[in-house]
Amino acid sequence: MHRSLRWAKFGEVKRQSRNQRFKEARFPRFIPISDDGVTAPVPATLGNKVLVLNQNYEPLGICNVQKAVVLLWLGKAELIAIRPDRILRTIRSRYPYPSVVRLQMYVHVPFKKVELTRKNILRRDHFRCAYCARPTPPLTIDHILPKSRGGGDTWENLVCACVRCNNRKGDRTPDEAGMRLLFRPFRPNHVTFIQNVVGTVESEWEPYLFMR
Ligand SMILES: [Zn+2]
Repeated sequence: MHRSLRWAKFGEVKRQSRNQRFKEARFPRFIPISDDGVTAPVPATLGNKVLVLNQNYEPLGICNVQKAVVLLWLGKAELIAIRPDRILRTIRSRYPYPSVVRLQMYVHVPFKKVELTRKNILRRDHFRCAYCARPTPPLTIDHILPKSRGGGDTWENLVCACVRCNNRKGDRTPDEAGMRLLFRPFRPNHVTFIQNVVGTVESEWEPYLFMR
């Protein structure tokens, strides 16, 4: 019998569903180790985040490594990218450490549109000035084509700007002011803010997040 079942109290075993018992019994215990075979110093490796793609490669969200391995094990997802610096090991075998997985079946998720607000513009632009990249507060919102010249309140016409750049630009276009935007402003979606949720984004994720 699997260790976790053997150690569990009788009442706890009874409360487990059939599906849970199946997973417990069939799923191997994964021990994260580094490439040289030495146990990794970071104990929480199984909690690391994995990017989950829909069947059409659209990013759906993130899950932990344990959940990703279960999806792979049950054949519900395929492995798209691995973490080359890590490996998972059972008593007998070694397995690649997942970084990106793709679901085998398409899941329809109606994502809400990201609201055009000052806060979301700052979040999209990583709280940095779009002209000089400085994060100096107070940060303002700049109309690339000024409002007085017909510039609208749109994702493509609004960027985060520091006070110095905003004053320097004044009522002119970036071209007229001899200033250059460091990126092209875009309409964000649910994926844009994944970075805010997980803190950092793995390099293997970038091709699927279309990040700068
Ligand atoms: Zn600036």
